[in-house]
This record gives sequence, C-alpha cells and structure tokens, in this order.
Amino acid sequence: MVDVIVVGGGPAGMTAALYCLRNGKSVLILEKHGFGGQITYSPKVENWPGTAQMSGNAFADALLDQVMAQGAEVDLAKVLRVEDRGNVKAVFTDDGKEHEAKTLIIATGVKHRMLGLPGENELVGEGISFCAVCDGDFYTGKTVCVAGGGNSALQEAILLSGKCAKVIMLQDLPEFTGEKKLQEILFARENVEKHTGVKITALNTEGGELRSVTVEPQAGGAAETVVCDGLFVAIGLIPENGAFEGLADLDKFGYFDSDEQCTTKTPGVFVAGDCRSKNVRQLTTAAGDGATAALAACRYIDAM
Ligand SMILES: Cc1cc2nc3c(=O)[nH]c(=O)nc-3n(C[C@H](O)[C@H](O)[C@H](O)COP(=O)(O)OP(=O)(O)OC[C@H]3O[C@@H](n4cnc5c(N)ncnc54)[C@H](O)[C@@H]3O)c2cc1C
Repeated sequence: MVDVIVVGGGPAGMTAALYCLRNGKSVLILEKHGFGGQITYSPKVENWPGTAQMSGNAFADALLDQVMAQGAEVDLAKVLRVEDRGNVKAVFTDDGKEHEAKTLIIATGVKHRMLGLPGENELVGEGISFCAVCDGDFYTGKTVCVAGGGNSALQEAILLSGKCAKVIMLQDLPEFTGEKKLQEILFARENVEKHTGVKITALNTEGGELRSVTVEPQAGGAAETVVCDGLFVAIGLIPENGAFEGLADLDKFGYFDSDEQCTTKTPGVFVAGDCRSKNVRQLTTAAGDGATAALAACRYIDAM
C-alpha cells in the first residue's frame, strides 16, 4: 500500500505528487493517456511565472522528470472505480489491477466536448482538431470550419483567420455568445464567414479525409454542404468525474464541488485542478490546487 494515489498525471496531479513526496510520503500516479495532460497540446506557453516561453511538452517532461527523481511510482492505466474502505482506498484500473492507498487525490482534468457524429473519432488529427495553436499551421492557405460560438471558438477562429484562406463559423445558437470585442475583431476580417442557427449533421470524407460538412438549419429547411479542409471543434469542455461521484459531490456541470482545502465528502479523498468547480483553469491554478490538496492529504495521513 502507498500513502497517496494520484489519479491523473497532468500539472495538478504531478504537482500534488511532488508536494507529497517532499513530505516523505510514497506516491503512485495513475495516468490513462500520457503524462502532462492538456498542456501537451500547446506548442507555446508564455504565462508560467518565471519562464518566458516553453512548449507544453517541455513543461510536462520537466515535471515528470522532477516527480520521478523524487521517487514517484507511475503507471499508465485508467482508473475505473474506487472503493472507500475507510483508512484504505482501493483503486481499480483498466489493466485489471487493484491498488491500495491511505489517501486519494483526484486530478482528472477535462476533455473536449465532441459533436457526437459518426466518424468523428477517426477524423481527430485527420481533419478534425480542437486546438488552432497546435494544428492551425496544417491549414495555412486552406478553408476551415469552426464549430462553436463562445470565447474559445472566437479565439480559435481569430488565430486561424491569420493563416487560412477562409474561416467559416458554424454556430448552432441564433447568436454568437462570446465577448463582443472578440466578435468585432473576428467579423471585421474579410476571410471570415458566419452561419448561426445551424447544426452540423454529417462529416463527409473522401479517402479517409474530411472534405465537407453537412449543416442543417435549426429552424428547419434544406441541408447544405460546406466544403472545407478542416474542422476545429470548440464547443466546450467536459469533466470526466462520473466514476468518482460516490466519493465527491459534483456541481451541475459535472465538476467536483470542493472547498479551498480541496477536500471532498469522503475523508482522505481530495480533488485538484481543472476537474474542480472554479472560474480559472490554467497551469498556475492547477499547480496551486495540487499543492493544496497534497498538503491536506499529508495532514490527513499524519493524523491517522
Ligand atoms: C491547447 C491548450 C493550450 C493551453 N495553453 C495554456 C497556457 O498557455 N497556459 C496555461 O496556464 N494553461 C493553458 N492551458 C490549460 C492547462 O493546460 C490546464 O489548465 C491544465 O493542464 C490543467 O491541469 P490538470 O492537471 O488539472 O488537468 P489535465 O491537464 O486535463 O490533466 C488531467 C490528466 O488526468 C488524466 N485522467 C483523466 N481521467 C483519468 C482516469 N480515470 N484515470 C487516469 N488518468 C485520468 C488525463 O488523461 C490527463 O492527463 C491550455 C490548454 C489547452 C488544451
């Protein structure tokens, strides 16, 4: 049994591990996908205090090296469920293992909301993207659609309109909901076209590559084919906290409802980072949560 199991090897989880290790606790980090979390999608990070510029991958690699050097145990596996046995938390992973710990820190972050259309998963990275900063260069001089109408969609489109021949905004609501200032900047650009009140209903491919999308007016009417080389989907983020609902309360959006100490309704279970209900989701806030949750977990263990 280890002192602490951290679920999620993103910035929050790895910072939590670092603080626990430096307090003399043994730590196992379970990560389902790749260490580093969302920031690995960003080629350029310029708001981590003290570092003018770095890639998200460089940040993630340095953090992983740091926690490994402090003695963290790591495993690539998805946590499916947790059993609270009082002073022991039993954690079950998708490789069929059961791990035990005195405390649990859940730092599962968020993932991008998808359109839910047939063929969408297969097209991710092959015509569908969630990150203009990461993938925008692949579409230089080409035509792209952006799905969404909030701040993220507008920001993605502003960036893309500087590279692409044409940017077509597809918003399912009657209006764009992002900041007016962003709308002014975007829609002043001659290579930007906007469609509101339309739903994307099909992704059309040729030879496995995206060639167009089908859109239908929400109010009814004829479907239309919009020819494009790429589709950037910016329709929101979703937390992945369902498996832990029995341990920690969720707000109406599915984020963990927690306090300033990152505690939950289950003694010995803490939450950290983007998976929490909060206003700001950034590296700095994820790291801050990681430290807070870790120190609360250490205090809990010391009082056992
Ligand atoms: C394209 C992009 C650019 C960004 N740029 C910046 C920036 O410049 N500056 C900045 O401050 N922030 C930036 N952010 C935001 C920043 O990356 C996040 O706020 C931060 O990564 C949150 O860290 P986290 O550890 O809470 O969550 P995440 O980074 O989401 O990490 C959570 C981890 O948990 C894992 N996980 C989830 N469920 C399970 C499970 N059941 N079992 C095991 N593992 C699980 C996931 O695979 C993931 O690796 C950017 C985000 C994106 C997407």
